[in-house]
Amino acid sequence: MKSITVFCGASTGNDPIYVSVARLVGATLAAAGVRVIYGGACIGVMGAVADAALEAGGHVVGVIPYFLRSREVAHYGLSDLIITETMHERKMKMQELCDGFIALPGGFGTLEELFEVLTWAQLGLHTKPIGLLNTDGYYDSLIAMADDMVTRGFLKPVYRNMLLTSNEMGDLLHQMQVYRAPEVEKWLTDETT
Ligand code: AMP
Repeated sequence: MKSITVFCGASTGNDPIYVSVARLVGATLAAAGVRVIYGGACIGVMGAVADAALEAGGHVVGVIPYFLRSREVAHYGLSDLIITETMHERKMKMQELCDGFIALPGGFGTLEELFEVLTWAQLGLHTKPIGLLNTDGYYDSLIAMADDMVTRGFLKPVYRNMLLTSNEMGDLLHQMQVYRAPEVEKWLTDETT
């Protein structure tokens, strides 16, 4: 994988572990020569990933919509900062530029981004690996819910297994590197996508 898009919180959370793991993620990706794509902010977990990757000599691309430049405090020290018109363009660009996705702890924004790439994988619109880094058990309840969705017949196991999970960055990266997307039912034809 040459580029990974990282979805994560614009907040830091209230335990220092979230920032320290985010910094580890940034440094690990930079050391592996993987370009980091993210939402372009210098605050929260987002800023921690970017700063650590840059400090380790990595290449970091931020993608931020014009209207969020001041609210999320755009990071002007990046290798590249792409300004988009809309949130939809931002997500599209973040999807286009990468070979895989990692979600770190975050709020609704992070979950929205994660679930969009999961549902698009489910529809066969992309075949990129999607990893959830379960720092300090932050996503235990989300993972339990995904398993419960399978038990209750709302989610097929093959789609559940598209969400790669680990509490350790090296392990997650390895799972992503060996990931092969399953053949999925095409619900949409080429004409409708
Ligand atoms: P949060 O996880 O809520 O702290 O947000 C993390 C990032 O997700 C921020 O850069 C938000 O701008 C972004 N975000 C928030 N809402 C959305 C949305 N509906 N679609 C895409 N990204 C979003």
